[in-house]
Amino acid sequence: MVNSLPLLEGDKQMSENTPMISTQNLTMRFEVKAGLFSPRKHITAVDNVNIAIYEGENVALVGESGCGKSTLGRLTLGLLKPTEGSVFYYGKNIWQMSKEEFRDFRKSAQIIHQNPYNAINPMRKIADTLLPPILKYKIAKNRDEAWEKAKELLCMVGLSPPEDFLNRYPARMSGGQMQRILIARALSVNPKYILADEAVSMLDASLRIGVVDLLLDLQKKFKVSYLFVTHDFGIARYFVAKGGGRVMVMYLGSIVEIGPGEEVIQNPIHPYTRTLISAIPIPDPVETRKRGIPPLRSLDIPSLTELPPGCKFSDRCPYASEVCMKKHPELKEVNGRLVACHKAEEFL
Ligand code: SF4
Repeated sequence: MVNSLPLLEGDKQMSENTPMISTQNLTMRFEVKAGLFSPRKHITAVDNVNIAIYEGENVALVGESGCGKSTLGRLTLGLLKPTEGSVFYYGKNIWQMSKEEFRDFRKSAQIIHQNPYNAINPMRKIADTLLPPILKYKIAKNRDEAWEKAKELLCMVGLSPPEDFLNRYPARMSGGQMQRILIARALSVNPKYILADEAVSMLDASLRIGVVDLLLDLQKKFKVSYLFVTHDFGIARYFVAKGGGRVMVMYLGSIVEIGPGEEVIQNPIHPYTRTLISAIPIPDPVETRKRGIPPLRSLDIPSLTELPPGCKFSDRCPYASEVCMKKHPELKEVNGRLVACHKAEEFL
């Protein structure tokens, strides 16, 4: 059965345009086996997710590590085939595309990985990382033109002089410089959609803001949409405060809150979102006390193979009641956003 996602005011305006990326009942299960003789179990990393991302939009996808954010991101890029449900690019199911259409889609949908040291071959010069996609997707006619294009991209990501970087091996570069190479590579094929998958989490805190600023500056030039995946609500807050856009909060494979970034951060509704935001350190102890969020009933994240019945957050949520233990809360419109909580109205 198809669950259609209720439209919010902002969505209604945008709905005249088909979303660039959308998902319908998207589900991804993986088989896990604890030992040779243990029975096979399945975990649902992405559980019946319906989202839409529009042209030029920023979306920050936030949740604890292991909640399925990266899997969801990879599904939207066609890097994983879902167990159930669909991914659409401008309304076309990506798994029903012809070979040529899928190739064009993959050119338009790029990824910036978390760890540049895993994503870039250490044995090859930076030119050998940047030039092949430019040539493969015919962004340049020949190697000379591709070389010039790569130089231009390196200047845009703040790596200068570009010839020097093109001739370097990764071992002679810092983590921040390598991350900028990944950004240049993602942009080299003129994409429309970029998954930034924990793209700043490996960097020193002092470098993170600079890389987020760079991503947002480049968005203006390239008019891309970002799905900015992070476990750090502090960096998500900076991303949407500076670049605008929406926040989606994910918990154990389900989206539990979607709304305009600033509103979600200033006034979170779902108890899980409230918990994540209350964990952002702020220097003022009075402000910290004012947050008044009761502590979680449990700090342990439940195992994906043994989820509680009803609401997945029920064994940690300080507001859980009987209905929460029995009935799964669907996403519903609450005060201009989408929230999956039986008691959402009580938290306004
Ligand atoms: Fe907490 Fe119940 Fe809401 Fe789940 S449905 S988040 S347990 S109040």
